[in-house]
Amino acid sequence: MFELNGIRDARGRIAPHILSTPLVRSPTLSEICRVPVGLKLEHYQTTGSFKLRGATNAILKLTEAERARGVIAASTGNHGRALSHAAKAVGSRATICMSRLVPENKVSEIRRLGADVRIIGESHDEAQQEVDRLVAETGLVMLPPFDHPDVVAGQGTIGLEIVEAMPDVATVLVPLSGGGLVAGVAAAVKGLRPRAKIVGITMERGAAMKASLDAGRPVQVKEFPSLADSLGGGIGLDNKVTFDMCRVLLDEIVLLSESEIAAGIRHAYENEREILEGAGAVGIAALLSGKCAGLRGPVALVLSGRNIDMELHRRVINKVSNPLGEEV
Ligand SMILES: *Cc1c(COP(=O)(O)O)cnc(C)c1O
Repeated sequence: MFELNGIRDARGRIAPHILSTPLVRSPTLSEICRVPVGLKLEHYQTTGSFKLRGATNAILKLTEAERARGVIAASTGNHGRALSHAAKAVGSRATICMSRLVPENKVSEIRRLGADVRIIGESHDEAQQEVDRLVAETGLVMLPPFDHPDVVAGQGTIGLEIVEAMPDVATVLVPLSGGGLVAGVAAAVKGLRPRAKIVGITMERGAAMKASLDAGRPVQVKEFPSLADSLGGGIGLDNKVTFDMCRVLLDEIVLLSESEIAAGIRHAYENEREILEGAGAVGIAALLSGKCAGLRGPVALVLSGRNIDMELHRRVINKVSNPLGEEV
């Protein structure tokens, strides 16, 4: 299985470049769930999401010659921002391919960081095809958003910090899309606390890892607009790392509707005083939905990102019935 030592090495490597984020107790969620609930405030991470950990670890492991060639990735937004930031920090240059589903606030931040931005197609998978084409044509080095051992190890550093802050942690709730975050966190937490349970949380429509685990192999799913836009996209039909790790390490997957995700964003704002994007709020949403009844405590939730368009956030807080507009 995935090496705890690789995650420990990643931690030392990325420490100068990332924040160790706090884990704080949530009185309201602890009361609702009747077990201690701690929030891992990873949305405070530089660039607004945990993705900086994996991107930084991966870029620091490249040779000088590879960095000089430049790096490239497809992204639903946050990996692109993280990779652009990490590339700039080491004097490399990033090219980021994104579909038209990626919100404009995320695209403009990536441009601001000096990356070469390409908007292509209607899904993450189409953006990935453009990456494959450019890699073949130009020799740029691909650092993907989840399916790479150095990216997974970087995300796993969150698991080390959770166990340090909450040594008796029994259950960890983790947002799930391609599975880099949950695979890394699960490897770290179970490496240190083998009896702990790991629950992956994602949206009902377009849940690629859930469909793939059910099928016993990576499968393609249709992508839909969601409040949890960072959870969109497939896991890759040629998935090498995260599918097998999720198969072994994930204890359960919880699926959420759009209105449940909206309730998570609202609770975060009104009760925890935190601004979260949809993907960052799914752990809270899962607890509020009652779909996690019977969890063993203490529970830790990863709040994974905060890069929501603020106009959309206002619509969610004000309970506009269809905050994403016509297509949802
Ligand atoms: C990327 C992302 C996720 C999902 O991470 P995976 O490694 O793809 O499972 C969750 N939340 C946020 C905010 C993200 O940017």
